[in-house]
Amino acid sequence: MKDYDVIIIGGGIHGAGVLQAAAAAGHSALLIERGALAGGTSSRSSKLIHGGLRYLESGQFSLVRESLHERAVHLRIAAELVELKPFFIPVYEDTRRRPWQLRLGLSMYALLGGFGAATRFGTVPRAQWSHLDGLKTQGLDAVVRYYDAQTDDALLTRAVVQSALELGAELAMPAAFSRAVLREDGVAVTYRTTDAAGGTGTGSTTDITGTPDSASTGCTIVECNARVLVNAAGPWAMQVARVVEPAIAVPEVDLVQGTHIAIPFALTAGIYYVESPTDGRAVFVMPWKGATLIGTTETPYHGDPDDVHPLPEEEEYLLSVVRHYFPALANLTRDDITARFAGLRVLPAASQAAFDRSRETIITTDRDAGPRVLGIYGGKLTGWRAAAAHVMERMRPSLPFRPRRAATDGLILRRPV
Ligand SMILES: Cc1cc2nc3c(=O)[nH]c(=O)nc-3n(C[C@H](O)[C@H](O)[C@H](O)COP(=O)(O)OP(=O)(O)OC[C@H]3O[C@@H](n4cnc5c(N)ncnc54)[C@H](O)[C@@H]3O)c2cc1C
Repeated sequence: MKDYDVIIIGGGIHGAGVLQAAAAAGHSALLIERGALAGGTSSRSSKLIHGGLRYLESGQFSLVRESLHERAVHLRIAAELVELKPFFIPVYEDTRRRPWQLRLGLSMYALLGGFGAATRFGTVPRAQWSHLDGLKTQGLDAVVRYYDAQTDDALLTRAVVQSALELGAELAMPAAFSRAVLREDGVAVTYRTTDAAGGTGTGSTTDITGTPDSASTGCTIVECNARVLVNAAGPWAMQVARVVEPAIAVPEVDLVQGTHIAIPFALTAGIYYVESPTDGRAVFVMPWKGATLIGTTETPYHGDPDDVHPLPEEEEYLLSVVRHYFPALANLTRDDITARFAGLRVLPAASQAAFDRSRETIITTDRDAGPRVLGIYGGKLTGWRAAAAHVMERMRPSLPFRPRRAATDGLILRRPV
């Protein structure tokens, strides 16, 4: 039976980040992913590496500061995968957020971002409005421009795992975690490899595309030990926590669905950050692989996370936004949608609207001194490296001393092959 310092469940961005951080800190680490890397929420986000301008409205200043710092780190270590883009906020006669409010928010954004070059902002001169992809100009008072970054979330996740594997970490995929039993000094972990990966009974590993490194096939039950088990199963984290014995506390969270649609229209100027004409929520209209991606919605979700899918009313809601702001697209219907996907946000349980709830990562442990199980709930794509650093800090009392191999803010992330 193989022993690891850290075993991580879930190959989304958080699991990838913890795998890399653990390997960089010199630990033996295994990631168990039941499907494909970024097969869950981490391929269904809005793909923004951003400070989160709107989180200023709900007073989440430390989150915005940390996110802007992480954005700067991404632009340095993941230049092949993360690109700074202009964002445009059109302000019409009836837009809720007025230009002075936006300028105030963006000044705060620049302050929290350390006044770096990427925090500059201003207004687009009226003479240049015609370059804004056919944006509606009737009733338009001003267009505010600032900068944030866009990525390919699935590629970024795979790049982080690739970096971890280069540091000696291991990946079991496809492999489904099925049970954990807590002991005084660690955790006995059981997972099941599925056909593609096969298994040796001691832990077979794969590359980031999911190709097994052994020729074996079949379904094998694998048992191994960890000092700490990290539950990074995203919307499935509650299901994973429930098969830990003896039972551990699970935080109160809600699942909230967010849908994106793609339409065959090429945006060239940048990303539009607009208010929905129906309820005033912020919606992004973004260039994406030669098309336009529109998102997102916030629909409470109570079903099995495996079953999440875009709803017709969400698609109509998103279409109404583009029809409203881009007159040339006024006749779009659901038949014009070329791609659609839905993901689940994990948010702290509360009665207030999802839009206003904290986006901070929730980290829980089975006990404060020497945790054996640690759970990551919620959070942002942007904050994966910072979240992984917090996780390492919480796990430290349970882990043996190992010589550090690298610092994660110095590891260059390359486009995965
Ligand atoms: C609609 C939407 C838009 C968003 N947009 C942004 C954005 O633009 N910018 C930003 O910073 N953040 C954004 N976020 C937040 C961000 O996408 C998430 O915080 C992040 O992707 C969560 O990653 P994760 O690793 O926690 O979960 P996931 O990516 O869901 O990964 C969990 C993994 O666990 C695996 N798993 C589950 N059960 C098991 C098991 N038993 N055994 C093995 N593996 C298992 C799953 O297969 C899955 O791959 C958005 C979120 C949503 C929902």
